[in-house]
Amino acid sequence: MIRINENTIDDWLLSAQRKLEYWEPDIFFEELRTPRRDAYASTFQRPEAALELIKDKLEAAKVRAPRPFHIMNIEAPGGCWELGTQISPDLTTFMAPNGHKIDTETYRFVYLLCHAIVVDEHDVVRHQCNNRACIRPDHLLLGTQAQNVLDEDRRKYAGHTSQGRGQALDAQVKKHLQRRPDPFVVEPLAHDETTKPSDQWD
Ligand SMILES: [Zn+2]
Repeated sequence: MIRINENTIDDWLLSAQRKLEYWEPDIFFEELRTPRRDAYASTFQRPEAALELIKDKLEAAKVRAPRPFHIMNIEAPGGCWELGTQISPDLTTFMAPNGHKIDTETYRFVYLLCHAIVVDEHDVVRHQCNNRACIRPDHLLLGTQAQNVLDEDRRKYAGHTSQGRGQALDAQVKKHLQRRPDPFVVEPLAHDETTKPSDQWD
Protein backbone atom coordinates (compact mmCIF):
# COMPACT_ATOMS: atom_id res chain seq x y z
CA MET A 1 0.00 0.00 0.00
CA ILE A 2 1.27 3.45 -0.85
CA ARG A 3 1.51 5.67 2.19
CA ILE A 4 0.52 9.18 1.17
CA ASN A 5 2.43 11.60 3.30
CA GLU A 6 -0.31 14.18 3.62
CA ASN A 7 -2.31 15.31 6.58
CA THR A 8 -5.91 14.19 6.59
CA ILE A 9 -8.84 16.27 7.78
CA ASP A 10 -8.78 14.37 11.08
CA ASP A 11 -5.09 15.22 11.53
CA TRP A 12 -5.84 18.90 11.03
CA LEU A 13 -8.76 18.86 13.42
CA LEU A 14 -6.73 17.09 16.07
CA SER A 15 -3.84 19.51 15.79
CA ALA A 16 -6.27 22.47 15.84
CA GLN A 17 -7.89 21.06 18.98
CA ARG A 18 -4.52 20.79 20.71
CA LYS A 19 -3.49 24.33 19.80
CA LEU A 20 -6.85 25.70 20.91
CA GLU A 21 -6.57 23.91 24.26
CA TYR A 22 -3.41 25.83 25.00
CA TRP A 23 -4.58 29.13 23.56
CA GLU A 24 -4.67 32.06 25.91
CA PRO A 25 -4.77 35.80 25.32
CA ASP A 26 -1.29 37.21 24.79
CA ILE A 27 0.05 40.21 26.65
CA PHE A 28 -1.26 42.65 24.04
CA PHE A 29 -4.74 41.24 23.98
CA GLU A 30 -6.34 43.70 26.41
CA GLU A 31 -4.77 46.66 24.63
CA LEU A 32 -5.78 45.57 21.14
CA ARG A 33 -9.34 44.50 21.85
CA THR A 34 -11.84 44.87 19.01
CA PRO A 35 -15.23 43.16 18.60
CA ARG A 36 -13.71 40.83 16.03
CA ARG A 37 -10.71 39.89 18.17
CA ASP A 38 -13.07 39.27 21.09
CA ALA A 39 -15.21 37.05 18.88
CA TYR A 40 -12.22 34.92 17.89
CA ALA A 41 -11.03 34.76 21.50
CA SER A 42 -14.41 33.53 22.68
CA THR A 43 -14.45 31.00 19.83
CA PHE A 44 -11.03 29.67 20.80
CA GLN A 45 -12.11 29.27 24.41
CA ARG A 46 -15.15 27.22 23.36
CA PRO A 47 -14.14 25.88 19.94
CA GLU A 48 -16.44 22.84 19.60
CA ALA A 49 -18.98 24.41 17.21
CA ALA A 50 -16.27 26.11 15.14
CA LEU A 51 -14.33 22.86 14.79
CA GLU A 52 -17.52 21.13 13.72
CA LEU A 53 -18.04 23.86 11.11
CA ILE A 54 -14.56 23.64 9.61
CA LYS A 55 -14.83 19.84 9.60
CA ASP A 56 -17.92 20.16 7.39
CA LYS A 57 -16.19 22.70 5.17
CA LEU A 58 -13.02 20.63 4.78
CA GLU A 59 -15.07 17.55 3.98
CA ALA A 60 -17.12 19.44 1.41
CA ALA A 61 -14.03 20.73 -0.38
CA LYS A 62 -13.14 19.26 -3.75
CA VAL A 63 -9.72 17.63 -3.62
CA ARG A 64 -7.70 18.49 -6.70
CA ALA A 65 -4.92 16.43 -8.19
CA PRO A 66 -1.46 17.69 -7.22
CA ARG A 67 -0.32 20.45 -9.52
CA PRO A 68 2.53 19.86 -11.91
CA PHE A 69 5.98 20.85 -10.76
CA HIS A 70 6.46 24.55 -11.27
CA ILE A 71 8.51 27.09 -9.42
CA MET A 72 5.25 28.81 -8.34
CA ASN A 73 3.97 25.59 -6.71
CA ILE A 74 7.02 24.86 -4.67
CA GLU A 75 5.63 26.31 -1.43
CA ALA A 76 2.35 24.45 -1.62
CA PRO A 77 2.94 20.89 -2.70
CA GLY A 78 0.00 18.54 -3.10
CA GLY A 79 -3.46 19.15 -4.45
CA CYS A 80 -5.68 22.03 -3.41
CA TRP A 81 -8.87 21.55 -1.42
CA GLU A 82 -11.30 23.83 -3.18
CA LEU A 83 -14.55 25.31 -1.95
CA GLY A 84 -16.22 28.00 -4.01
CA THR A 85 -14.30 29.51 -6.89
CA GLN A 86 -11.21 31.65 -7.16
CA ILE A 87 -13.35 34.69 -7.81
CA SER A 88 -15.93 33.82 -5.16
CA PRO A 89 -14.21 31.78 -2.47
CA ASP A 90 -16.57 30.06 -0.06
CA LEU A 91 -17.77 32.26 2.80
CA THR A 92 -18.39 31.34 6.42
CA THR A 93 -20.82 32.85 8.87
CA PHE A 94 -20.20 31.80 12.43
CA MET A 95 -21.90 32.94 15.59
CA ALA A 96 -19.12 33.22 18.17
CA PRO A 97 -19.95 32.10 21.72
CA ASN A 98 -19.87 35.76 22.79
CA GLY A 99 -22.74 36.54 20.40
CA HIS A 100 -20.67 38.37 17.77
CA LYS A 101 -21.18 37.16 14.21
CA ILE A 102 -18.00 36.36 12.28
CA ASP A 103 -18.49 36.80 8.53
CA THR A 104 -15.41 35.93 6.56
CA GLU A 105 -13.84 33.85 3.84
CA THR A 106 -13.78 30.19 4.79
CA TYR A 107 -10.05 29.90 4.08
CA ARG A 108 -9.38 32.65 6.60
CA PHE A 109 -11.59 31.06 9.26
CA VAL A 110 -10.00 27.63 8.70
CA TYR A 111 -6.49 29.04 8.93
CA LEU A 112 -7.09 31.09 12.09
CA LEU A 113 -8.80 28.20 13.85
CA CYS A 114 -6.22 25.60 12.82
CA HIS A 115 -3.45 27.81 14.15
CA ALA A 116 -5.35 29.37 17.05
CA ILE A 117 -4.35 32.87 15.99
CA VAL A 118 -6.23 36.05 16.77
CA VAL A 119 -5.28 38.58 14.11
CA ASP A 120 -5.69 42.24 13.37
CA GLU A 121 -7.73 43.64 10.54
CA HIS A 122 -4.59 44.33 8.49
CA ASP A 123 -3.39 40.75 8.63
CA VAL A 124 -4.26 38.75 5.56
CA VAL A 125 -4.30 35.02 5.04
CA ARG A 126 -2.30 34.31 1.91
CA HIS A 127 -2.53 31.42 -0.51
CA GLN A 128 0.80 29.82 -1.19
CA CYS A 129 -0.89 27.86 -3.97
CA ASN A 130 -2.23 31.06 -5.64
CA ASN A 131 -5.68 29.49 -5.58
CA ARG A 132 -8.17 31.58 -3.66
CA ALA A 133 -10.72 28.76 -3.68
CA CYS A 134 -8.34 26.62 -1.64
CA ILE A 135 -9.00 26.01 2.08
CA ARG A 136 -6.27 23.45 2.63
CA PRO A 137 -4.55 24.54 5.87
CA ASP A 138 -0.97 23.91 4.75
CA HIS A 139 -1.48 25.95 1.59
CA LEU A 140 -2.28 29.01 3.70
CA LEU A 141 0.02 31.47 5.38
CA LEU A 142 -0.42 34.54 7.50
CA GLY A 143 0.99 37.75 6.11
CA THR A 144 0.54 41.46 5.81
CA GLN A 145 -1.33 43.33 3.13
CA ALA A 146 2.03 44.39 1.69
CA GLN A 147 3.08 40.77 1.28
CA ASN A 148 -0.23 40.00 -0.38
CA VAL A 149 0.39 42.69 -2.96
CA LEU A 150 3.87 41.31 -3.48
CA ASP A 151 2.37 37.86 -4.03
CA GLU A 152 0.14 39.39 -6.65
CA ASP A 153 3.13 40.88 -8.45
CA ARG A 154 4.98 37.58 -8.34
CA ARG A 155 1.94 35.85 -9.78
CA LYS A 156 1.82 38.30 -12.65
CA TYR A 157 5.48 37.82 -13.47
CA ALA A 158 4.80 34.08 -13.56
CA GLY A 159 1.87 34.57 -15.90
CA HIS A 160 -0.89 34.18 -13.34
CA THR A 161 -3.42 36.50 -11.80
CA SER A 162 -5.46 36.06 -8.64
CA GLN A 163 -8.44 35.54 -10.91
CA GLY A 164 -7.07 32.50 -12.63
CA ARG A 165 -4.16 30.26 -13.27
CA GLY A 166 -3.28 31.12 -16.81
CA GLN A 167 -2.70 34.15 -18.92
CA ALA A 168 -5.63 33.13 -21.09
CA LEU A 169 -8.00 34.42 -18.43
CA ASP A 170 -6.56 37.91 -18.62
CA ALA A 171 -8.51 38.44 -21.78
CA GLN A 172 -11.78 37.80 -19.94
CA VAL A 173 -11.03 39.80 -16.83
CA LYS A 174 -11.25 43.55 -17.12
CA LYS A 175 -7.93 45.23 -16.46
CA HIS A 176 -9.16 47.07 -13.38
CA LEU A 177 -10.43 43.83 -11.88
CA GLN A 178 -7.19 41.96 -12.23
CA ARG A 179 -5.82 43.16 -8.94
CA ARG A 180 -8.02 41.98 -6.13
CA PRO A 181 -9.74 44.87 -4.39
CA ASP A 182 -9.47 45.11 -0.65
CA PRO A 183 -11.83 44.52 1.04
CA PHE A 184 -12.59 41.73 -1.38
CA VAL A 185 -15.54 42.42 -3.66
CA VAL A 186 -17.28 39.57 -5.38
CA GLU A 187 -16.94 40.10 -9.09
CA PRO A 188 -19.83 39.00 -11.24
CA LEU A 189 -18.15 36.97 -13.95
CA ALA A 190 -20.85 34.67 -15.20
CA HIS A 191 -18.52 32.39 -17.09
CA ASP A 192 -16.96 31.22 -13.87
CA GLU A 193 -20.15 29.47 -12.76
CA THR A 194 -20.81 27.86 -16.11
CA THR A 195 -17.32 26.75 -16.95
CA LYS A 196 -16.42 23.32 -15.72
CA PRO A 197 -13.73 23.62 -13.06
CA SER A 198 -11.52 21.23 -15.00
CA ASP A 199 -11.50 23.68 -17.92
CA GLN A 200 -9.95 26.29 -15.71
CA TRP A 201 -7.60 23.90 -14.09
CA ASP A 202 -5.63 22.88 -17.15
ZN1 LIG B 1 -4.14 25.17 -2.37
